[in-house]
Amino acid sequence: MTPLNINDFVRDLYATNEFIPLHAPTFCGNEKGYVTQTIDSTFVSSVGKFVDQFETQIEQITGTGKAVATVNGTAALHTALHMAGVRAGDLVITQALTFVATCNALFHMGAEPAFVDVSEKSLGLCPKALELFLQEHAVLSENGAVHKKTKQRFQAVVPMHTFGHPVELDELQAVCSKWNIALVEDAAESLGSYYKGVHTGTFGDYGAISFNGNKIITTGGGGVVLCKSADSGAKTKHITTTAKVPHPFEFYHDEAGFNYRMPNLNAALGCAQLEQLEMFIDQKRLLASQYQSFFKSSDFEFVTEPEYAKSNYWLNAIICPDKESRDLVLQETNAAGVMTRPIWQLMHRLPMFKNALRGELAISEQIESRLINLPSSPLGIQSL
Ligand SMILES: *Cc1c(COP(=O)(O)O)cnc(C)c1O
Repeated sequence: MTPLNINDFVRDLYATNEFIPLHAPTFCGNEKGYVTQTIDSTFVSSVGKFVDQFETQIEQITGTGKAVATVNGTAALHTALHMAGVRAGDLVITQALTFVATCNALFHMGAEPAFVDVSEKSLGLCPKALELFLQEHAVLSENGAVHKKTKQRFQAVVPMHTFGHPVELDELQAVCSKWNIALVEDAAESLGSYYKGVHTGTFGDYGAISFNGNKIITTGGGGVVLCKSADSGAKTKHITTTAKVPHPFEFYHDEAGFNYRMPNLNAALGCAQLEQLEMFIDQKRLLASQYQSFFKSSDFEFVTEPEYAKSNYWLNAIICPDKESRDLVLQETNAAGVMTRPIWQLMHRLPMFKNALRGELAISEQIESRLINLPSSPLGIQSL
């Protein structure tokens, strides 16, 4: 197998000689109709029926107690962490192998990240590495788990479902319960992915999903907080909407809230997109199976869903035999107009997180040097 074969294969899949992006949004349903409706109604902003409808659709798809729509996935994560009790000075355990937004959300709250390795099977937070890390650095006190030396609280663990592949949630939950730490899922990439039949983002105390333009469905920019109960959902909605106490005309706010609500215009786009989610997932799983058979007898290992999960296969990925072959494929595919990408640089290599507490990151480093993402837009769309 050579980069040349990969180019030909991807071009055949998408049946085009044009540039092939990594992931393009697809609008082939009611998008224009719903967006036009919001403009005609003048309710393009903070109130309108599409926000409620969008939240209800997300509740039906994910089975969560209450969904709270937000302006983007980072804001959803910020809100979820706040609701899980994270405050300035706390430590939040997450993956070094993630998109920077996971860390930005907690950093801007004055919390600090602590990085733990990922497991090979999920590319997400490894329960064993988490337990070892806590044994080394934490002690249980009346404040929950605190750092042995600095006494900072370990307030939350944030696993991320990388490329849509669910992490080992039962095992992570067991470690979190033992150490009395909240579990907040960064499910930004995993709308439509299930762990043992349970939708990702609904397993932990809170979850956050993103609807940025490159995700499986988009609202332009947007996100949602998944809350377990109606009560935590009501509190979450309250704080994302300036914490205003309802009154026909008086302005009274009972805490310092956020202005994080999703505009109705974006929710209109999202409602139309959600109607097509099942079709997108079917097409992406079909695409993944075609990549899988193509790479079957090669030196490149196609990344598949863990055995306990059903993944949305948001972004397809291969693991190359070594860094040299990875660099060659990146070069030859991009030069030929077939967009591929390395995985994100590990978070502890970025200047703002270089002094963060961290465990051994051997698997993260292996994956960082050898993984490539492949074009993953749903098939059959380019020709529309
Ligand atoms: C996309 C993404 C986010 C943030 O979403 P935005 O909507 O872009 O703010 C957070 N975490 C991960 C892992 C993501 O991929």
